[in-house]
Amino acid sequence: MARGAFDELLDWVFLHGRLGGLALAGLGLILGGVTVADALTTGGFFVVMAAASVLFIGLGGLLAVFGTGESGGRFVMPEPKPLSPELEQALRERPKPFYVCTRCRHIQSVYNCELCLRSVDCVEVRDDDDLGLAIAAME
Ligand SMILES: [Zn+2]
Repeated sequence: MARGAFDELLDWVFLHGRLGGLALAGLGLILGGVTVADALTTGGFFVVMAAASVLFIGLGGLLAVFGTGESGGRFVMPEPKPLSPELEQALRERPKPFYVCTRCRHIQSVYNCELCLRSVDCVEVRDDDDLGLAIAAME
């Protein structure tokens, strides 16, 4: 399977959350079945196929159990909106240090965003310079 196609498959799976997990686990079962049938009939055995089967079932199973109903948290894309005066005031009044996710505009005390689960958009605010950068990133 081409790398691009595999990425698209994973994107689709995560986009569909729990349902995608079930679909992926199903695909893994089919792949596993084909691998076993192939080994029994032709004696051929492809390690890659067996590995992919186990991977699909494991990943799909995890997602099916722990996934959200709709899209997974990592694909939450809030609508861009101007920085509200309320949020700016909350940022200025919050005791430092703290973290803010510039994507979700979520203020928190941990590095990874609690809403979108990403860390790349999170800014640590230790002083007024950091605060200025964080606000600029959200405008
Ligand atoms: Zn976030």
